[in-house]
Amino acid sequence: MTRQFFVGGNFKLNPTSREAKRELVNILNKATLNPQTEVVIAPPALYLIPVLELLRKDIKVAAQNSHTKNSGAFTGEISPVQLVDAGIPYVILGHSERRTLFGETSVIVAQKTRAALDAGLRVILCVGETLAEREAGSTQKVVEEQLRAVVTLLSPGDWSRIVIAYEPVWAIGTGKVATAAQAQEVHADTRKYLTSAVSPEVAESTRIIYGGSVTAANSKELATQPDVDGFLVGGASLKPEFVDIINATA
Ligand code: PGA
Repeated sequence: MTRQFFVGGNFKLNPTSREAKRELVNILNKATLNPQTEVVIAPPALYLIPVLELLRKDIKVAAQNSHTKNSGAFTGEISPVQLVDAGIPYVILGHSERRTLFGETSVIVAQKTRAALDAGLRVILCVGETLAEREAGSTQKVVEEQLRAVVTLLSPGDWSRIVIAYEPVWAIGTGKVATAAQAQEVHADTRKYLTSAVSPEVAESTRIIYGGSVTAANSKELATQPDVDGFLVGGASLKPEFVDIINATA
């Protein structure tokens, strides 16, 4: 089974003007991209629709968050059915910034994942340990606990619409990238977990991508690892080098 390489760009709360957003889209629109790689960018919610309209059609668009409910009295939220109605195919859920800064527990992330799938979205599901958890030797335990909440609410058929992003918290936005061996180890263990918790088929076919200080310089080696199926890129997705990361396997 070959898993299609996947590169996501998580713009987070950037950029801060419509002009800068247009420039980011233009860089991608002009670039020569490896057609074998699935590319998805996640601009801030306000820019989702204009980006969708401006962007070349072989790149997909993701929201950075969505709510557990589809409508109602939830001030400030965006619902999965609204995203689908707007033509947005993907949503990032469980990002460590959502977990730590906005209090999202693994149960909430799992409920959001369920709601997103029910609405017809695909989900980039983020998991990962803090530095203290890694140093305590509990990386895999933490990752499995985060995944278990989701496994509980999904049926095996749902996994074709999930991409798992392993993002060690200590590597996000710090310039401290995981080594290729560290990433490979967690990805392989995660696949093993999926084998027993869901099924060997789901474990084999689910893409597990790496995120955390990915750059053009480190992406090539990470991409050689057998269980690294792509990247979720933050800071470098706002720079021209994002194109080189997309083409890391070329
Ligand atoms: P970074 O962010 O590439 O800036 O470390 C990755 C992420 O948060 O998805």
